[in-house]
Formats: sequence, structure tokens, C-alpha cells
Amino acid sequence: MAVQTTGTSQPTAPTDSTAGVSLGPAVALSCRECGERLPLGPVFACAECFGPLEIAYELPGGDPEALRARIAAGPNSIWRYAPLLPVPADVTDRPGTNPGFTQLVKADNLARELGVTGSLHIKDDSGNPTHSFKDRVVAIAVEAAHAFGFTTLSCSSTGNLAGAVGAAAARAGFRSCVFIPHDLEQGKVVMAAVYGGELVGIEGNYDEVNRFCSELIGDPLGEGWGFVNVNLRPYYAEGSKTLAYEICEQLGWRLPDQLVVPIASGSQLTKIDKGLKELIAVGLVEDRPYRIFGAQAAGCSPVSRAYKEGHEVVRPVKPDTIAKSLAIGNPADGPYVLDIARRTGGSVEDVTDAQIVDAIKQLARTEGIFAETAGGVTVGVTRKLLESGELDPSLSTVVLNTGDGLKTLDAVAPTTGPTATIRPSLDAFRAAGLAS
Ligand SMILES: *Cc1c(COP(=O)(O)O)cnc(C)c1O
Ligand SMILES: [Zn+2]
Repeated sequence: MAVQTTGTSQPTAPTDSTAGVSLGPAVALSCRECGERLPLGPVFACAECFGPLEIAYELPGGDPEALRARIAAGPNSIWRYAPLLPVPADVTDRPGTNPGFTQLVKADNLARELGVTGSLHIKDDSGNPTHSFKDRVVAIAVEAAHAFGFTTLSCSSTGNLAGAVGAAAARAGFRSCVFIPHDLEQGKVVMAAVYGGELVGIEGNYDEVNRFCSELIGDPLGEGWGFVNVNLRPYYAEGSKTLAYEICEQLGWRLPDQLVVPIASGSQLTKIDKGLKELIAVGLVEDRPYRIFGAQAAGCSPVSRAYKEGHEVVRPVKPDTIAKSLAIGNPADGPYVLDIARRTGGSVEDVTDAQIVDAIKQLARTEGIFAETAGGVTVGVTRKLLESGELDPSLSTVVLNTGDGLKTLDAVAPTTGPTATIRPSLDAFRAAGLAS
């Protein structure tokens, strides 16, 4: 069982009483391995077996039509799904970044190029406040940090998370101090710093940053700190469910047949599956099969490799890829991703850096969407799975773009630029041969 965190000591909340916290329909933490239940609090690993904890709910039962109407009447953000999230009912009363409600783009041009005869949609999460899907998970973690009385927000980040934490802390009035590998793309470093919180570059890769944060949590130095993706991870992770909710609502409360989802730690993929199962459970969508496909970069493909080799555990790797937002060599949710891909009839595939760049350009050229490298990974993998026949071109498919190409300009800059540079004269333009 791969648990991302190493220390056995767990932080206590800054206030003694987490007993009175009210986080909407969330009723407890439960261990994903042994089922042990604990009260809601800032803990992330089971005291019995060290398995990861997740949120257990009492979900709204009864009339799906009433729930659908309540969601439809809610705000144009993830908070419309508050009845299904671990957040208090008054969540919209406090200042927050209010992410979500991003576009689901019908990608007919790309579908034509790829030979998809069913429907193809891009869920474009570059439209979030800090231009990646991370605003969703951070928004939920901030609510937990507030409930547990933390005053400093922190994280270990592959880049996008640091920016999302910085922005959310600024808006909600927390101090922030975030940790990143020192060699990230300039766009990510600048975005992580501009919101005024503290940003620390660590001389090491993400897995080393994460290990450092786990040590900090077990030390008095880190007391009172809410690490959104470590000690607040059970809450943070639930934010990814809103991708599943939105996709289904935007499809007219229908499940897509196939989803292609990027994998870093694997949290997003596992919680999209959880979100889809919850929608079925509360009767908002029809109970029928769907298939989830995981996407990695070849230069960091521990889950893809384990899938292809038929393993149930994921052997860690040392990442080397331009898809830095997905560069986690020791993915905490890897084994759960393998289970979901196999159980739903999906698979896990990876693409090379050259294929990632190619896919970024193809998506931009066909649909006018400029994806970050993680979007190049999902579009590239979609193409590969269509070629291998694993994705059925006659079904409905949703491909996730989880970030913005402006943050990873280096990926395409060497092969993208002006067609011509000319003097400002009609003669020069004529000579360039560009008139139609
Ligand atoms: C963090 C991130 C993901 C997914 O991360 P998980 O750890 O697998 O949840 C996907 N895309 C982008 C752009 C990200 O920043
Ligand atoms: Zn356990």
C-alpha cells in the first residue's frame, strides 16, 4: 500500500475541539484499506493500518428531481454541488476564489481528425481562477482549514497547486507558504509568487518536496499549518469530484461512456470515479457502465507501466518529462487508479514528450484551446488509444484539459512563432506569399 506520507506522527489541530465541526453532508473519515472510521479532523492516515483516509457522507436521499433543481438554482461555481461536498452550508458567505463551472467544449473538429464518430468533448479546466483544475481541490481544503482553525496554508506542489493555494489564501485571508521543486517553468513560479505568500524552491524533485513537507508536519516547526494536499488531503481530494458532477450536468445529467484523465498522484482520477458513483447513488444519472482511462507522460509513467505489466503495486520512478505538473514518481493513489482502470474496462497509457507537443498543437489548431503539457498528455493518449482500438470511436468521450498553455510556453515556443517578419509595406507582404 503506497501511502505518500512517511511520518507516523500526525498533527493536532490548533484548537482542541474538532468535535463540533460541521462540514455539510460529511460525517466521518474512513480508511480506504480497512474501513476504520474516525471523526472529521486534520488527519490523513489510518491509525490502525496507515491506509489513506477519505470522507464518508450521509448523502441527500429521496427525490433526485428536488436535488437537481437545488443544484440548478445554485451559484455558477463548484458550490452548486455543496450538498455533495464536505463544506458547510454557508460556504458562499465567505470570500473564496469560487472555481468551477468551466466549459465543456464539443470538439467536432478534433473528432473529425481523430476519426471519432460518437461525440468528443474537452472539459477545459484552464478556465479556473488560476488557470488549472487545482482551484477546485484548494477551495475545499480552505473550508477544512477554516473549520479546523489553521491560519497558514501550505502545500507541496508540481506548480499549479502552489499558485492555487497562493490565490485562495490571498482571497480568504490566510497566510501562505508553499513548496515547489526549484526548477519549474517560469509561468508556474511567477504565478505561485505573485499573490504575495511565501514561496520556497526546494533543491530536489516533487517527491523530495513532498517528503520534506511530511517531515515538517511531524515537527513543531509546522504546527498550525494546513498542508492542503497532506494533512488536509481527504478534504482536498473531494474537490476533484466536482469535475465529474459538472461533466454529467453539462451533458444533460448523463454519464459519458469514456473519460480520459491525467495522472499525477492519481487523486483526481480516483475522485472522478467516486463522484460518478455518487451521482448514480443519489439518482442524478442513470446507472450504466462508464470507462475511465488514465494518461501519463512516458518520462513519468509508473502507473502506466504497472498497468501494462499487470501489477497491483506501482514501482516509483525518477521523472524526466516536459509534463512537469504530472511529474510525480511515487503516486500515492497509483494502486487505486490501477483498480479503477481495470474495474471500469479502461486502461492506462503514456505518450512521449514529442507526442505531447504534437497534441498541444493539434488541440490548439482544431479547437482553439491552448492546453498546458498535461492537456497534451490527455489528448495524445486519446489519439493513441483510438489507434490501438482501446477507445471506442463510436461512443461518447470526454477528455480533460486541466491547465493553461500560457504556463508551459517552453513546450511549444521552439517550434511555434511568426510565419514571417516583414517591413510594413504591401510589397513586402506580397513577397512573403501570404495573400490568398
Ligand atoms: C495536479 C494536476 C493534475 C492531477 O493531479 P493528481 O495528483 O493526479 O490529482 C492534472 N493536471 C494538472 C495540470 C495538474 O496540475
Ligand atoms: Zn485502516
